[in-house]
Amino acid sequence: MRILGIRVDEYDMQAALARLTKLLEQPGQKEAAQVVTINPEGVMLAKADPELQRIAEQAALVTADGTGILWAAEKLGKPLKERVTGIDLLEKLAEQAAKKGWKVYLLGAKPGIAEQAAAELCCRYPGLQIAGMENGYFRDREEAVIEAIRRTEADILFAALGMPFQEHWLYQHRKELGCRVSIGVGGSFDVLAGTVKRAPRLWQKLRLEWLWRLLSDPKRWRRYLAIPRFMQAVLREKKQLR
Ligand code: UDP
Repeated sequence: MRILGIRVDEYDMQAALARLTKLLEQPGQKEAAQVVTINPEGVMLAKADPELQRIAEQAALVTADGTGILWAAEKLGKPLKERVTGIDLLEKLAEQAAKKGWKVYLLGAKPGIAEQAAAELCCRYPGLQIAGMENGYFRDREEAVIEAIRRTEADILFAALGMPFQEHWLYQHRKELGCRVSIGVGGSFDVLAGTVKRAPRLWQKLRLEWLWRLLSDPKRWRRYLAIPRFMQAVLREKKQLR
């Protein structure tokens, strides 16, 4: 479906996992199939950024990250079953990877965080193979980082670099990374490492995870300005559809 002209796939977690499993088991892939997990802020960014829009168009999968996307889909008459967030996808894929022997690479976050996230994942999913880790502040040694990722022959690359930088970067280097699937996962490593706490389940169920994040890090308030603009634009689109 489209929300304000931006692609969002009507996939629940199970369907997303099935699609990614197929890609991961497909032989002879030359470039990383990209997954974009999009929230209202991402939709507003993509509306103003033709390159980001193109990335979403060409991605292997664009999932609904954020209750704002569920709300919009409902308003536009195409309700989605559930959110498929970056962190949930990361956890489910890591679980599968441990069983299937897929190697994962963790790229992003502040120095030391990817290592802590990797330790947590290995503890939860014994047998998980971590191909490598690198922090997300590598602008001055980009070529070396790309080469290091390629050398590990990782199957899945999780990039926690923040949106939209991670989407642009993964797209730009999709042919050089040597992995099968790449996913932008925002602040997920911070959550796994325990430096940022995810909203409790009840808040998630009540669709209030966004409020939890705002309350736990009020410095992010500027980002939330995109939400009323997003809602207004969706309601306008709904009116036009009638
Ligand atoms: N980050 C990074 N490199 C950068 C900028 C940010 O690795 O150049 C990391 C940052 O440390 C944090 C994550 O990217 O771990 C962004 O988290 P955020 O919750 O802001 O993600 P978003 O909401 O943008 O998806």
